[in-house]
Amino acid sequence: MSVLYKSTRGNGELISSSQAIIAGIAPDGGLYVPNAIPKLSVDLSSMVNMGYKEVAYTVMKEFLTDFTEEELMNCVNKAYDKKFDHEEIAPLRKAGGAYFLELFHGPTIAFKDMALSILPHLLTTSLKKQNINKEVVILTATSGDTGKAALEGFSNVEGIKIIVFFPENGVSQIQKLQMTTHEGSNAYVIGIEGNFDDAQNGVKAIFNDEEFKKSMELNNSMFSSANSINIGRLVPQVAYYFYAYLTLVRNGDINLGDKVNIDVPTGNFGNILAAYLGKKMGLPINKLICASNENKVLYDFIRTGVYDKRREFVLTSSPSMDILISSNLERLLYFLSGEDTNKVTDLMNSLASKGYYEIDSSMKAGLEDLFGAYASEEETFEAIREVFQKDNYLIDTHTAVAYTAYKKYVAETKDTTPTVIASTASPYKFNTAVMGAVDEKYKQINEIALINEMCKLSGVEIPKAVKDIEKRPVLHKKVCSKNEMKQVVKEILAIN
Ligand SMILES: *Cc1c(COP(=O)(O)O)cnc(C)c1O
Repeated sequence: MSVLYKSTRGNGELISSSQAIIAGIAPDGGLYVPNAIPKLSVDLSSMVNMGYKEVAYTVMKEFLTDFTEEELMNCVNKAYDKKFDHEEIAPLRKAGGAYFLELFHGPTIAFKDMALSILPHLLTTSLKKQNINKEVVILTATSGDTGKAALEGFSNVEGIKIIVFFPENGVSQIQKLQMTTHEGSNAYVIGIEGNFDDAQNGVKAIFNDEEFKKSMELNNSMFSSANSINIGRLVPQVAYYFYAYLTLVRNGDINLGDKVNIDVPTGNFGNILAAYLGKKMGLPINKLICASNENKVLYDFIRTGVYDKRREFVLTSSPSMDILISSNLERLLYFLSGEDTNKVTDLMNSLASKGYYEIDSSMKAGLEDLFGAYASEEETFEAIREVFQKDNYLIDTHTAVAYTAYKKYVAETKDTTPTVIASTASPYKFNTAVMGAVDEKYKQINEIALINEMCKLSGVEIPKAVKDIEKRPVLHKKVCSKNEMKQVVKEILAIN
């Protein structure tokens, strides 16, 4: 059966998956959703002994129905290879009474690699299918993690250039080095004298510049973006929830058909929405635990049905979840409203103009699939200490937020269903906060020196992403003011 895509705010116009991947966001500002969430067409029992790539293919093909088997297999094979430092790609580790699904074995040691390692291949395949022969320029503003994951994903992909802007003084030392030492002949990394908002606004201004667009067309090129609203990032994420479930069956931790809970540290609501889609496809999931840090806008929404961004923005030790507008929640609203695009449009307009919205009681009933919980900074550090002391296993700050949510869920519900926690980053990526949580004495030591200390403490090999990072040559030294961004892009693309 073929699955087509339509906008959460649109009039029902349908496009193919390859068209949706190229477009990214719908022209009306909505997000693309499948016209019907597909059911898995094979029996779960036939998947128990599949490796990661086979599971990924089996799940993704239900969504990307205009890709041929050869096209999709080719994308999967190019994505989930030796770039990952674990042969299982997404291994499961039992600790602290739960199961941690390690999604950080890719080149940038955070879970965004799971989707950004395949998105470039889905995009180039889509362009070919649609007979578009343009050079694609990926333009990205980053607060740290997405930029490096996109650089890795799009590195040396034929027909694509990638330009990343980051706040020169707004990222950690490791994050900065990860980007400025990046190799790859199609990549450009530029620091901005300003903050993340300045970088983001500059990129948006370029995207919306009609004259610039025309020059691009004359150059036979087009802009695209690598951000998390593209269905090409969402669909690959559904696969690892199936893989985790099948691993539990294979290991004898559950029987086929038993239910599990899925617990996800949430920011933009992309990762947990992928688990929701898995549940609707037929994966036996009991509760989806939505874990927030002190920016607990989603926790409040799940409890009350009111989404209210009018609050103070808190900087936490889990920065990838410091977010007050969770873009992908719009897709959940679409499903909860019974696919009512007018209702979704009204809610999103209310959020834009008033800063909040409230869903009605029939939509609230659909929130039963979810359990919301949040962690304070102190609870996050306590969770890191607890799991390490219990099982000698170091988790990162984002994962620790999810572990706290798991404990609160169990305390409140007494549910004993086995729980899979999405472990979204390696502790090496946030080593200052993680080591400081384990022992005060590490708070005196700098980020680079802490890499070796963490290795000694945890016994986990230093990932390639950070090993000897301070010794790598800095290849990208360009820094510009926020007003110069457009000119810099023109120079890179040889446009005048
Ligand atoms: C992006 C990110 C998250 C949040 O994921 P969403 O899909 O935006 O909800 C959580 N943890 C880490 C480490 C991330 O990089």
